[in-house]
Amino acid sequence: MPLPADHRSSLLPSRTWLAPALAVALTLLLIALGHEGRRVIQLAALAAPGLAWLFWPVRRKGVHRLRAGLVWCWAMAFAVDGLARAYLLDVYQAAPDSSMVLGAAANTNARESAEYLGMYWRPLLLQCALLLGAGVLLAFCVARGRRSPPGAAAAPRRPRWLRATCVLGCTALALLSAAGYASKPWRRLHPVAYWIDWDAKVDMVRAEWAAQQQARERTLQQAREAAPGVELAGPATVVLVISDSVNRDNMALYGYGRPTTPMLLEQQRQLEDRLLVLRHAWSRDATTLPALRNLFRFGQPDSAQPQHALALARAAGYKVWWITNHDDVGIEQMHARLADVAQFSNRTPGRSSASLDSAVLDDVRVALADAAPRKLVVVHLMGAHPHYNMRFPANANPFDDAVDAVESGMQQQGRPAWLRQMRHDYDAALLYHDAVVASTLQMTRSPASGEGYRAWMYLSDHGQEVAHGTGRAGHSPQTASGYRIPALLWRNTPPQPWTPDLAQRPFRADWAAWTLADLLHVRWSGDQPQHNVLSPSYQWQAPEIPAKVESFLQ
Ligand SMILES: [Zn+2]
Repeated sequence: MPLPADHRSSLLPSRTWLAPALAVALTLLLIALGHEGRRVIQLAALAAPGLAWLFWPVRRKGVHRLRAGLVWCWAMAFAVDGLARAYLLDVYQAAPDSSMVLGAAANTNARESAEYLGMYWRPLLLQCALLLGAGVLLAFCVARGRRSPPGAAAAPRRPRWLRATCVLGCTALALLSAAGYASKPWRRLHPVAYWIDWDAKVDMVRAEWAAQQQARERTLQQAREAAPGVELAGPATVVLVISDSVNRDNMALYGYGRPTTPMLLEQQRQLEDRLLVLRHAWSRDATTLPALRNLFRFGQPDSAQPQHALALARAAGYKVWWITNHDDVGIEQMHARLADVAQFSNRTPGRSSASLDSAVLDDVRVALADAAPRKLVVVHLMGAHPHYNMRFPANANPFDDAVDAVESGMQQQGRPAWLRQMRHDYDAALLYHDAVVASTLQMTRSPASGEGYRAWMYLSDHGQEVAHGTGRAGHSPQTASGYRIPALLWRNTPPQPWTPDLAQRPFRADWAAWTLADLLHVRWSGDQPQHNVLSPSYQWQAPEIPAKVESFLQ
């Protein structure tokens, strides 16, 4: 700790309030960097006792030095807290105890830390420089806390009004600070208490994951007990592409008025009726987590102890990949980690990340080239998840200046300009998405993906409302648009086309695993062909959804 040899020779004379006031201002600034509104006052109240000590005239040199050391540590706790929070807000728009940050911290190992440093060294370096600067400045200030010089005469008496104001101010501050320390939720915000608690929370997340690891092992065991087999000779490659927030009404492939799916239409031109376009596809859920749970758990409630499609595929002898552009701890724990290989193309947590879906294509190519005889490659795309304008590259929106039937239709409905812009962005996201989805189909079809049987299935987890039936945009449990999804299938054998009636069959995504099992040629004791849209014994039942649907054949 750099302390002045003699306080009388220091830059700021020890008898003034200047250095302590500077320490207070600096600490407040650092608190305000990482906190907002009322929180700043709460943290300031917690910081007050330590900083107040600097204003107390100290006579003995030893006490002065001890005080400087203690108050420096005290203020630095608030500095580290403020800067760490500011960093998380800047990079992730997240608080330290958000599930995303806790998950990331719990998940960290040496390799990931190195990757992380490689990616974020600039903002981290800036925070370290700020912390170092704050440390030096605070050291300078605390070394100049108020002292009463030895042998000096008592300070001149200040005017009575000034003394009264001081006493009142100090009393108010002391009361506020005491209130802060008396209140449990308030004093938990103290950096020392907060970060000790945070560390415990990270340990809790790890413990939960260990429990989920056990749950996954039970799921795999349950699949093995069903003794699934593959009714197919020779190699097999099946690709399942799951997208997010794609409403089929906005796909030209499904008749939309804008050219949003040129690449899939080209695939359809090449494949003709060997590409099955399920015209009436619906999701059972309007958000990702329940939609994926139902999709992989065969649309059955927990009480039925349903199989997991990935576990079943593995037990039947498939090597399973999970290749994703999402970074979601829940999906990772419930589904991705059941695969043999889990590839995370996107290392920025949350669905507000700007990672474009084409990031997965290299990993898909590698998986398809793998030597394993039987492969199931699951690809999880961000699709058209809000914010729509983050789902396609800059300057890749051909619709935002369009004067077309879609635009004039929305104008006639009185949709405001911001909402029409949302629609343009959504359509541009689907156009970008089209190229990625068509690439996965093209790669699956390519002879480079190996000999033998190959199949491809594409669907969205749920739909999206973008001024279709209401004046709003986003996930939409209350309107049919929230459930209207695309679903496409292709396979190279049997070579005959799909029968024409298949495309007209209504389809529900929570039953998709029954169809996936068919594509995988997996047979097991619990098979229910009445839920498989490809089966001659398919029996449609309308899903129970909160939105009003005139007809599931629309
Ligand atoms: Zn979703």
